[in-house]
Amino acid sequence: MTPRPFRFSAPFAAYFAICLLALVAAAPVDSSDEARDIEVAPGTVVRWPGDSLESCRLGGREWAPYAGACWYAIDLLHDRGAVELARTAKGRAERALITVSDYIYPVQHITLQDDSRVNVSDVDLVRVRSEQKRVGSLWWTDAEPIFELPLAPPLEELPAGGRFGSRRFLNGQPRSPHSGADFAAPEGTPVMSAAGGRVVLSDDLFFSGESVFIDHGAGLVTMYFHLSTRRVEVGRQVDRGEVIGRVGQSGRATGPHLHFGVRWRGARVDPEILLGPAAAVPSLR
Ligand SMILES: [Zn+2]
Repeated sequence: MTPRPFRFSAPFAAYFAICLLALVAAAPVDSSDEARDIEVAPGTVVRWPGDSLESCRLGGREWAPYAGACWYAIDLLHDRGAVELARTAKGRAERALITVSDYIYPVQHITLQDDSRVNVSDVDLVRVRSEQKRVGSLWWTDAEPIFELPLAPPLEELPAGGRFGSRRFLNGQPRSPHSGADFAAPEGTPVMSAAGGRVVLSDDLFFSGESVFIDHGAGLVTMYFHLSTRRVEVGRQVDRGEVIGRVGQSGRATGPHLHFGVRWRGARVDPEILLGPAAAVPSLR
């Protein structure tokens, strides 16, 4: 996340010109637009604070500001290159350009005894695809935000861990990068909701095992995987810090741990960013 000078690429310049035309037609353009000197890793969140913010936009989507800032989630698999952030403040359209860096996360090799969860059978593949469909429908919710940042730690004592983003080889075969943070803990350790919210999925899933998904509004969803037991069902309103299940090693896991994941407006982001102070979140001036 070292700031580096911003550079234009030719295709982006063309895109930028088209966006400019669109904005001219839609709203007065802030003449103070400028390239912002910020580079971030994929899988991060960028905060752009400001006064009298009205709306925030990225990639054709629009949402409301939160806690005096626009928050932009950049997906773990976002291409490297320039990204335009947009917002409206005091009736004026504003834009900022950031750069998404190369993929920075390390490679991790994992050996699993149960090969049936690496080389998935045709029958299991049907199950996996149907689960992926269910899960994929959870990200775009427009409920009012009922969370507070930083999020509450999902374990009473959060050990060092994470390995967010690591490129994974399971039994020697490349698989999707790790889109959450792993925290080792003894089987049965209580797992708590990171914020107030509503349970939107609670089930035994093929890869993530006993899993709970909680919608906190404003497109923020947290996930708790590989539990031994789940204590909440779909539709249940939970409080920040409420016990929702217990640590286990269900699904595809090598030992007892909590896999804690965060999606914000669909983007896979490093949960540890939202567990830390807002001041530590990459921020535009
Ligand atoms: Zn994990």
